[in-house]
Amino acid sequence: MPTFPFSEADPIRYPGPPPKASEVVVVGGGVIGVTTALFLAQRGIPVTLLEKGRVAAEQSSRNWGWVRKQGRDEGELPVAIEAGRLWRQLAEECGEDIGLVETGVTYLAETDKELAGFDDFMRLAAAHDLDTRLLDGSETAKLIPGMARKFAGAMTTPSDMRAEPWLAVPALARLAARKGATIVENCAVRTLDIAAGKVRGVWTEAGFIEASTVLVAAGAWSSLFLRKHGVSIPQLSVRSTVAATEAMPEVHPGAAADDHIAFRRRRDGGYTLAAGGGSQLYVGPDAFRHVVKYLPALRANPFGVRYSPAAPSGFPDGWTTPRDWTAETQTPFERMRVLNPAPERSKLQAVEKNFGALFPQLGKVRLEASWAGMIDAMPDVVPVVDRVEALPGLFVATGMSGHGFGIGPGFGRVVADLIQGNAVGHDMSRFRLSRFSDGSALKLGPAL
Ligand SMILES: Cc1cc2nc3c(=O)[nH]c(=O)nc-3n(C[C@H](O)[C@H](O)[C@H](O)COP(=O)(O)OP(=O)(O)OC[C@H]3O[C@@H](n4cnc5c(N)ncnc54)[C@H](O)[C@@H]3O)c2cc1C
Repeated sequence: MPTFPFSEADPIRYPGPPPKASEVVVVGGGVIGVTTALFLAQRGIPVTLLEKGRVAAEQSSRNWGWVRKQGRDEGELPVAIEAGRLWRQLAEECGEDIGLVETGVTYLAETDKELAGFDDFMRLAAAHDLDTRLLDGSETAKLIPGMARKFAGAMTTPSDMRAEPWLAVPALARLAARKGATIVENCAVRTLDIAAGKVRGVWTEAGFIEASTVLVAAGAWSSLFLRKHGVSIPQLSVRSTVAATEAMPEVHPGAAADDHIAFRRRRDGGYTLAAGGGSQLYVGPDAFRHVVKYLPALRANPFGVRYSPAAPSGFPDGWTTPRDWTAETQTPFERMRVLNPAPERSKLQAVEKNFGALFPQLGKVRLEASWAGMIDAMPDVVPVVDRVEALPGLFVATGMSGHGFGIGPGFGRVVADLIQGNAVGHDMSRFRLSRFSDGSALKLGPAL
């Protein structure tokens, strides 16, 4: 495992300077921005990706590394299926080991009621010809031997994969650069430049870049950036804590979760772990602004989120984070090059305890690293991937709601086609921006 997490202290690999003009500018060097830039570059479109900190230093390296179709929202599933194919293809093209292996994803059910809760996805899986299946208690014990608890059963998708995020996204960025994308790190986009009601370019901390098309793929910062330009998305971010064990004997090669623990075998022989019990929302001005939109999610899962009265200084929805700025002055984006929340101690204690309790034969669970990430959440748990009708030239792909890594290359390909004005091949109505303002009832997607 490399030194983790990525930080501002890491060397700048793409120092710039940025070009004076580019056909497309991508704001944000996470998996969405990187794969969009990759597909555009592959088609010969001049594209410049600007990252305020380091490529993949925020969510896109901090995630669990699950590449799953299982449990996806109906609208996301076709994109996730395509993403699986693209991951395989891109892993080949990268020519680097990104840890991509087909080891399956499994959701464990303690009770028959929980098991019955998988029925909806089983129907969807059958309609898409997935290899997802339900296991009874003894099949579950055979799939993951040595578990100290008995489960009523499980849902499993053997063709789902795992990958090492901190290797994969930087490798995809190198591939994008080889294909001709210009990448610049340590270069925050401060504002859009708008003329005659259309996007004309961006102002960055390194000056102006002329561009007729701009994609905002800024993860947890997207809503702050967009609001400045009159585009409101009800996006919030929640803290989620992760831990990595040192290398230990293999209990299961894939990824699995129940209500208490989520675990995933890593390439280096350790496990990446997270405790159940929900994420933490720092309540700031946006949380108040969007509370009504989040009521259905809160009603469906009242214990899914814990609240904290204030975000640390400089966080996207912090009370003192500026909401307005100019192109000439320092913005919240360059003040926080890498959003690096502290992991929650109680969660780290819980992962040691819960993983150890599930696999007592492993002895004491030793953690060699821990970190947290701010998940960019949407009230209906599915992203916004759309053009902004009110501002020609502006595209948004954000709010991946905790499951954007696995589906990343799928949305990257889709957004590249949206930008080029091509048919995208999937029904994108589920991800439309207008769903938050056109009076339609929000339909909740699955949380995991
Ligand atoms: C703990 C955790 C576990 C997860 N587990 C999984 C999983 O197992 N499987 C899965 O599929 N997904 C998972 N996810 C979700 C997944 O990591 C994210 O959905 C995905 O990485 C989002 O990618 P992104 O490109 O949209 O955003 P990010 O990766 O957050 O990238 C956005 C980038 O934009 C940059 N930026 C912001 N503003 C500006 C600006 N003004 N100028 C320039 N740059 C800017 C930021 O610095 C950042 O690097 C998890 C997430 C977390 C936090």
